[in-house]
Parts: sequence; C-alpha cells; structure tokens
Amino acid sequence: MRLDDAIRRRGFRRWYEQQLIDGHLWLVTGFLALIMMLIALEVIPFRDSVAGLFLLTLIAIVGGGLCVLAWRRFTLLLFRAEHLAERAVCPECGTYARFTIEQATEVADAVGGWRLALRCRECACRWTME
Ligand SMILES: [Zn+2]
Repeated sequence: MRLDDAIRRRGFRRWYEQQLIDGHLWLVTGFLALIMMLIALEVIPFRDSVAGLFLLTLIAIVGGGLCVLAWRRFTLLLFRAEHLAERAVCPECGTYARFTIEQATEVADAVGGWRLALRCRECACRWTME
C-alpha cells in the first residue's frame, strides 16, 4: 500500500502506532526463530549421521536467515516511522500529526519512498515530509 494512502486511511498517529506494532512483531519473530534454532541445534544428534549433519546445517541456515530478515524488517520499520514522525510536526504552530496530505510524489531516495506535501489543520501552514 502506498504511504500516503496508508496515512490517509488511518491518520498519521494510527499509522505510526501500526508501524511500531509491526516492527516489534518482526522483532519477536526473529527472537523466536533464534530460540527455535538454538533448541534444534541442541537436540539434533548431528554426530551420528550425515542426515543429522545436513538437518543441522539446514536449520542453522533457515533460522539464521529468518533472524537476519526479521532484524532488517524491524530496523527498517522503526527507522522509517521515527524519521517520518520527526517531520509530522507543523513548523509554524508545532501541532503534531494533524495535517492533510495535499500531494504525494514518489521519490526514490526518500526514506519512505514518497514526498508528501502537507497542510496543517490548525494553522493551514504548508510543508513537505519525505
Ligand atoms: Zn500548524
């Protein structure tokens, strides 16, 4: 879903909360994958057979890969949410997260991938978030 559509649908505060929840779910997923991988490594008798060694290697690769993926998703979601939250304050009146998105432009090098033209609902000040 596009960033501007997600913020329009829920409002910035709820979008931000959802990003934090999603990010922490990824963190828990990565932690559980790490625990499951360590448990599997502890109980598999890998010295007895080649199949055990193969299974051990497979579990280590899958578990390690899932941990890395989960950590990357967690840091990406958290960084993007914090970055955009810092720019959700009206520069004129200081109101947080009470704006209307007037225009959204896709920008490749922006943190969220979009440049949003915003208008404050309190003082009608305009600024951009990217
Ligand atoms: Zn304002």
